[in-house]
Amino acid sequence: MTAKKDSIHFDLLEVLKGETCPVCRLMHRHVARYLDTISYEAVNDVEIRDRLRAALGFCPTHSWQWLELNNALASAIIYQDVLRELRRRLDTLEPPAAGGLLNFGKRGKGKLDALAPAATCPACEVRDQTAIRTLDTFTRLLAEVDFSDEYQRSRARLCLLHLRVTLARISDPAIFRRLVSIERDILEFSEGQLGELIRKYDYRFRDEKVGDEAGAPARAVKRLAGMKGV
Ligand SMILES: [Zn+2]
Ligand SMILES: [Zn+2]
Repeated sequence: MTAKKDSIHFDLLEVLKGETCPVCRLMHRHVARYLDTISYEAVNDVEIRDRLRAALGFCPTHSWQWLELNNALASAIIYQDVLRELRRRLDTLEPPAAGGLLNFGKRGKGKLDALAPAATCPACEVRDQTAIRTLDTFTRLLAEVDFSDEYQRSRARLCLLHLRVTLARISDPAIFRRLVSIERDILEFSEGQLGELIRKYDYRFRDEKVGDEAGAPARAVKRLAGMKGV
């Protein structure tokens, strides 16, 4: 077992205490750490700067996550480069030939490609690598009774996408059935909570106190969608 797997194992146990898809949660956390490193240490790292210049900055999702760090100086340094690069690429664009509309379909598509990122957003790469490592570890740990019990008790449900990917990676039929059965039971429980909440909206039962089911609708939506901003 490698040290990396150990740390993901440890992280997984920790995020199972929350209510977010554990895979989404770790992807988001690792990107946050990566952006933090860029913000404080790597702004002058030539390789990262080259990469961000080629990518024309972060992708939209990670641009917003980057802004949450509120590091104006780091943004200024990185984006001064990016804007200069974008301006350079704009200068390479050719206008359409005369009679342009008729030629619209043929017109310099290759030239407009200059405005497309020439590299993947580096935060997306960190996110995707984390997803693979987390799914590997999660799938492996499901074979351990302690861990699968912990997952069963947890409110940190796999989102629909990560449930699908996890099931696709399981080769042992017993573990496959175990995960399906865990998810099935939890869905049944959540459906019950939603039903209970709907019932209490009825004027005849309005006086009944709403308990844990108050959060069930939002949990149901989030459960399928996964974490925001991943
Ligand atoms: Zn997820
Ligand atoms: Zn990205």
